[in-house]
Amino acid sequence: MKIVTTIKEVREQVAQWRAEGLTVGLVPTMGYLHEGHQSLMQHSVHDNDRTVVSDFVNPTQFGPDEDYESYPRDIQHDAKKCDEAGADLIFLPSVEEMYPGGFCSFVDMNGLTKGLCGASRPIHFRGVCTVVTKLFNIVQPDRAYFGQKDAQQLSVIRRMATDLNQNLKIIGVPIVREEDGLAKSSRNTYLTPELRAEAPVLNRALQKGKAAIEAGETSSEIVRQIITDEINTAPNADIEYVEIVDWNNLEPTPSTEGSILAAVAVRFGTTRLIDNFIIERD
Ligand code: AMP
Repeated sequence: MKIVTTIKEVREQVAQWRAEGLTVGLVPTMGYLHEGHQSLMQHSVHDNDRTVVSDFVNPTQFGPDEDYESYPRDIQHDAKKCDEAGADLIFLPSVEEMYPGGFCSFVDMNGLTKGLCGASRPIHFRGVCTVVTKLFNIVQPDRAYFGQKDAQQLSVIRRMATDLNQNLKIIGVPIVREEDGLAKSSRNTYLTPELRAEAPVLNRALQKGKAAIEAGETSSEIVRQIITDEINTAPNADIEYVEIVDWNNLEPTPSTEGSILAAVAVRFGTTRLIDNFIIERD
């Protein structure tokens, strides 16, 4: 496995693979890798001859009061995780490599990004769409892998790839969880032991909501209330949103009968955690 820091080196390596007739998968990450990221890599290794992991804390997707500076970084740890999962190349660019002086072009979207996380993070998806488009252009992969953990991001990227004729397949990968159900996240490391003990309430609450739907509940409002009440049993949980939306367009839906995304964002102290479940129906 190689680690490179320049766009030129990535292009040269990928060109060599292409000349050998090999397929390429891309796993975009912000590093501090865990088993969730490794699951994306394993899917890519399974589907493609070669796998590129990008490891870049992208400044344009963080708001001014967010955790860009404090976001955890550890390249030794990341290299080990990539190696274990069978990745072939880590792209570890500097901010200057990705955003040289004079940079002023962005990819943005009108739909899909206003609600859910977009409501409190107004520039987030513009930053995500821009960096992901740049990575697609740099690597030109056959497939790119995104976690369902960030369900709105997965939906946004799928839409962007379709709308802009980006010539690759977008693959969604299920959420990987800790043994107690908490969705794995680089941000879990911010939690104090007390808050970490409370955080599994998110998955418990979502499971309760899902069970209600499976038992026949069709009112989104009632399911939303079930999820909200359960989260509120945790003394330090500060709910940002509990939403049930149509999985096809991320618009709020009164009924749980179609394909739906149930998504939550909750603060524990200063740490903002997200989780969700999706029910897909024809
Ligand atoms: P991040 O490094 O947090 O930007 O995440 C990089 C990619 O890994 C995104 O596509 C995430 O959705 C995905 N990911 C992060 N955590 C998990 C998880 N627990 N399970 C599955 N995918 C995940």
